[in-house]
Amino acid sequence: MEAWRRGDVETWRRGDEEASSRAAPRRILCEMNATNATDATSTSARWNIEATYASLPDALWAAAVPARFPEPKLVVANVALASELGTPLANLSSDDIARFATGAWLPPGAQPIAQAYAGHQYGHGTMLGDGRAILIGEQRTPAGARIDLHLKGAGQTPFSRRGDGRAALGPMLREYIVSEAMHALGIPTTRSLAVATTGEMIPRDGLKPGAVLVRTAASHLRVGTFEFAAALGDSAVLAQLADYTIARHDIDLIGEPDRVQRFLGRVVERQARLIARWQAVGFVHGVMNTDNMTISGETIDYGPCAFIDAYDPESVFSSIDRFGRYRYSQQPAIAQWNLARLAESLLPLLIAHEGEESRAVDRANEMLALFPTAFEEAWLSGFRSKLGLVSKESGDGALARDLLAWMHASNADFTNTFAMLAGLARGMSDRCDVSKCDAAAQSKFVEWHARWRDRLARDIDGGEAAPSRLRAANPAIIPRNHRVEEALAAAEAGDLAPFELLVRAVQRSFDPQPSDARYREPAPAEFAGYRTFCGT
Ligand code: AMP
Ligand code: MG
Repeated sequence: MEAWRRGDVETWRRGDEEASSRAAPRRILCEMNATNATDATSTSARWNIEATYASLPDALWAAAVPARFPEPKLVVANVALASELGTPLANLSSDDIARFATGAWLPPGAQPIAQAYAGHQYGHGTMLGDGRAILIGEQRTPAGARIDLHLKGAGQTPFSRRGDGRAALGPMLREYIVSEAMHALGIPTTRSLAVATTGEMIPRDGLKPGAVLVRTAASHLRVGTFEFAAALGDSAVLAQLADYTIARHDIDLIGEPDRVQRFLGRVVERQARLIARWQAVGFVHGVMNTDNMTISGETIDYGPCAFIDAYDPESVFSSIDRFGRYRYSQQPAIAQWNLARLAESLLPLLIAHEGEESRAVDRANEMLALFPTAFEEAWLSGFRSKLGLVSKESGDGALARDLLAWMHASNADFTNTFAMLAGLARGMSDRCDVSKCDAAAQSKFVEWHARWRDRLARDIDGGEAAPSRLRAANPAIIPRNHRVEEALAAAEAGDLAPFELLVRAVQRSFDPQPSDARYREPAPAEFAGYRTFCGT
């Protein structure tokens, strides 16, 4: 994430000069899938862009101009998403999509800006802002939603500090794969509309192809956006930001006298539900800084994230997370810590409403206290589904936790253990068939299995439809770390086939094909201790 900070300005400048002299050494691109493109070609699709963020006080954003790149080339376009958004992407040529993706051509209504935000990174406050991403506006979709279009890696902005404003192809494709996987898993997330290379080679551990990702989001409002506004010390600006945000995400609160307090409660509950969803698929975000936590409740910023293979609650993948601040087991606590920063930022508005600081603090604390209950409820409901259960019994949490404890002790694969349950519920066996299940682990599993079968028998249908419920709740395919690395290495070497196959596989996470076996295998032993690097 912060690798770009390590270089000094001169190094970056030299890198840029070298980059332009070595532009586009080869074509590494694929065309958009032609069949999909034809299917999605639509006459009703149109750009329907508004740029409302720029109507906020200009302390909260800065005008930004996309860099001029030597040779934009399309790598991938998400035709299904384009049509959901109502954009006419599928009607454009690959070259025109690439020009759109890299900011060389802006659709009507677009107004390129960089958003200001602050952020607590590993617990320390910093003033940040979009240093390499440009918001061009919001597409109004046929369904009436307002979706941000963001060009990540489109060049320097007034918030770039010492960074080059660029992004490398590998990390942008990584974001494409994982965000589309999260979407397929039913988890709220920003999405990926397109990736194009820029024709530049950029300095990242040697020279790497530069790329831009078009990211879409319900908004890019973050906890850090409010930290920034609060730091300005101008409560009129803070109030405008709060009302803008409420109008985008909690419209029923518009004009309510206690809207700020209730808005805080909504964000707390959205985040509690989101983190519970992450836990249920073994997703480790890896860099839960306050600037990477949305107000909308969508997952954002796929830098050093990874999915757990063998279950270990202390899993941490990020190479720079040395103390495991953002490890799997810690995610709920970190979310609460971040939300406390949001509450602090909103305090001036709460005080204005309550008339007294102590009462405002009480209100904020009441909202923050919603987290544990909302999280536990969402966690239990998620894991009940993962066990195929519909009715509620008080021992369900323990049943789920005991399976997790068994998985930890047996070094069992998280995804495959849950995916195996559908077969077991059909009554074919009481043995675990996940890898690394030795005799001792087998006998422990048989004990757990007997409890689970009894519990299923007490469920509303006696467990009759449990196999289909289990298949719908437990993904068979996740973007396994070794497969992601393999796809990115191939893409960087000019071969996009593994990337395309992996994207297609993760998009059918609950509906695997016989040919998907390779995406379901746990990582080879030498992959243990896998480390991720922040998406620079
Ligand atoms: P992230 O790790 O993506 O959450 O980024 C943290 C902050 O660093 C954000 O303000 C980014 O805009 C900024 N940043 C990351 N990479 C670059 C870069 N290459 N150039 C300028 N700013 C960057
Ligand atoms: Mg970020």
